[in-house]
Amino acid sequence: MTARNTAPAHSRPRTQPADPNLRRAALWYAKAGIPVLPLHTPTADGTCSCQRSGTCESAGKHPRLRHGLHDASRNPDLIRGWWQQWPDANVGLATGTALDVCDMDTSAGLAAVLDTLGVIKPAAPLIRTGNGWHLWYASTGLPNRVGLMPGVDWRGTGGMAVAPPSVHAGGTTYTFQQRWNGLALPDCPAPLRTLVAAPAAPVAVTAETITRFDRYVRAALDGELQRIRQAPAPVYSGGTRIAGGERNNTLHLAAFRMGQLAATGRVDEAATRRELTAAALQTGLSLVEARRTIDSGWRAGRARPRR
Ligand SMILES: [Zn+2]
Repeated sequence: MTARNTAPAHSRPRTQPADPNLRRAALWYAKAGIPVLPLHTPTADGTCSCQRSGTCESAGKHPRLRHGLHDASRNPDLIRGWWQQWPDANVGLATGTALDVCDMDTSAGLAAVLDTLGVIKPAAPLIRTGNGWHLWYASTGLPNRVGLMPGVDWRGTGGMAVAPPSVHAGGTTYTFQQRWNGLALPDCPAPLRTLVAAPAAPVAVTAETITRFDRYVRAALDGELQRIRQAPAPVYSGGTRIAGGERNNTLHLAAFRMGQLAATGRVDEAATRRELTAAALQTGLSLVEARRTIDSGWRAGRARPRR
């Protein structure tokens, strides 16, 4: 006796047969807990049943129902009615409730996911799509995410995936390379889940941070320029300054603070120093005096960076 077929017939997983019937497949997915919706169908000439022939950019991949994803359902009567109306409708699955899909467009994308998982063969239903692969996991509760890795997207909350045995615009059908028994889907492994849950790509964060930092630097500089211009001018008596020494101190402190910011390497030093100098000259300081004071303050500030 082999290990196979030892389980009593009634407890064997209900492995989905390689059934080319779209309506039966749709009903089977609904029974397994996944909301279903009818999609358009690629035509023999490579266009789409939506009649936007030649201009449809997602042939056989977009909903036939008016409200699209919002109309997805698990109701068998509704599903039977849809496929009675459109027997060749492709099968769409709403992701984010029972099912999430890791969508790999390229073999490099598949390789990247397998590397992330540290496996040669993923422990999840694997679907061959037109040009790539889908991995099916139990819903993570996380939203759609484009560009998880090069060639890899995530279909989660608010997303959708085309399911077997739908027809791809290229003429092939979506097929299970690793079947699903229709019972519980595997949880998304931690390394992959971490990627899905991670904050936006570093490049986007950097751009945003720089913008915010630039605004911060601008506001800081404007504040310093205002203080310099408002510093009391010195009062002289017989060639001796008897009041108004704050002007130089104010300029020194301004240069010190901007020098501290410049230590981050993200301040335009030349432009900032030009503006400080211009403000100093407006208060009546000489160019030599202004430059000397700014140099001194700037150097001290750079030596004590502001975090
Ligand atoms: Zn179309």
